[in-house]
Amino acid sequence: MAKLLIIGGGPAGLYAASEAAKLGFDVTLCEKGNIGENIRCAEGFFDTLKLLGKPDFGVLYKVKNLIIKVKSTYKVNADQLNLWMLDRATWQKKLADQVKNLGARIWENSPINPKDLVKLKREYDFIIDASGAPSVTSRLYGFAKFYKQNSGKTVQYTMEGDFSHLDYSLKVGLLPDFWGYYWIFPKTERIANVGIGNFDPQENDRLWDRLDKVISDENFKGYKILNKIGGICPTAIPDKLVFDNILLAGDAAGLTSPLHGGGIDMAILSAKEAVKSIASDWANYDKNLKGLFDKKLKFERLLVKIWRERNLEEMDKLIANLSKYGIYLLLANPKLINGISLQILEKALLKRKPVGIKKVL
Ligand SMILES: Cc1cc2nc3c(=O)[nH]c(=O)nc-3n(C[C@H](O)[C@H](O)[C@H](O)COP(=O)(O)OP(=O)(O)OC[C@H]3O[C@@H](n4cnc5c(N)ncnc54)[C@H](O)[C@@H]3O)c2cc1C
Repeated sequence: MAKLLIIGGGPAGLYAASEAAKLGFDVTLCEKGNIGENIRCAEGFFDTLKLLGKPDFGVLYKVKNLIIKVKSTYKVNADQLNLWMLDRATWQKKLADQVKNLGARIWENSPINPKDLVKLKREYDFIIDASGAPSVTSRLYGFAKFYKQNSGKTVQYTMEGDFSHLDYSLKVGLLPDFWGYYWIFPKTERIANVGIGNFDPQENDRLWDRLDKVISDENFKGYKILNKIGGICPTAIPDKLVFDNILLAGDAAGLTSPLHGGGIDMAILSAKEAVKSIASDWANYDKNLKGLFDKKLKFERLLVKIWRERNLEEMDKLIANLSKYGIYLLLANPKLINGISLQILEKALLKRKPVGIKKVL
């Protein structure tokens, strides 16, 4: 029984623990706080590659529509997307129970610092670092700054008020001269996560001010703010994902979507891949993982380029014609994403030389 240490009890850490316990590893998971607490997330679970399906726990509802506000407001039917609203606290607590029932140990209130890691590397056969961004490993190996330089920045309120008009749909909105978006993700008719993200790593933005303006424009006057969080969405994979016997998974591996910052799906898939690699060819984890996400990330980066060369009026037209351009087809059928479909999309939509596209994209 190989001894495996997992750092972090978020989606990546919990799925790694569950997969490894099922394979008979001797698993210990250390979480710095309590599982299911201090979560930074809007709680929309988009299974973009359709490899996961509906989560076993914590699902609040299957999303009916995406409401996209540009100049006008559009409703895009989400029936064909694997998109659910989750209560992440419930989901993660139930996952942790499942992990314990499989025989793994979970130590809460047990932060691992970079100095501990030096010793733990010798004590365990393998370590999966799922501590988010910046990861504990990055602080030992000196690449912590990489995440901040390659991340979307976000802020979010959880609000109480009347969100019944959204009718089990998620709303996102684009703003002029802003490479990012705001979101309103209702958890119930009365509670929603309302946030904004800036995906231009160069830009230093007053995001809380922007969010307050969104709230006033959306007429959420008198709504109560229940919680306030901020965080980063790392959108680039570090050069290496294996450091001695440590493998990075989830946000620690830079795995949130460069298009929208969602990362729950890639956290789960990378955790599964890390365990699979440890059980077979761990030295190839980098390669296996990049192969798994290659087409998805190329597709999302292409959409980012298209977005970046358009102003709000042009984006309005694009969203109005989402189906015509085949973008929706690829979102609904990720198996159709390949070199040919991406080339067609590129030819149809990337007409001008992109301006100011950073290497990270
Ligand atoms: C505002 C915001 C909104 C978002 N909304 C969405 C969304 O709607 N949908 C979506 O798919 N993604 C969303 N994301 C991204 C998503 O939250 C992450 O991609 C996902 O949580 C990554 O999972 P993870 O397990 O890799 O990391 P995390 O969820 O960050 O979990 C890491 C865990 O490690 C623990 N930890 C950290 N340091 C240590 C340490 N030193 N020792 C022990 N434990 C440690 C932490 O306490 C935490 O529990 C959002 C992100 C932000 C910031």
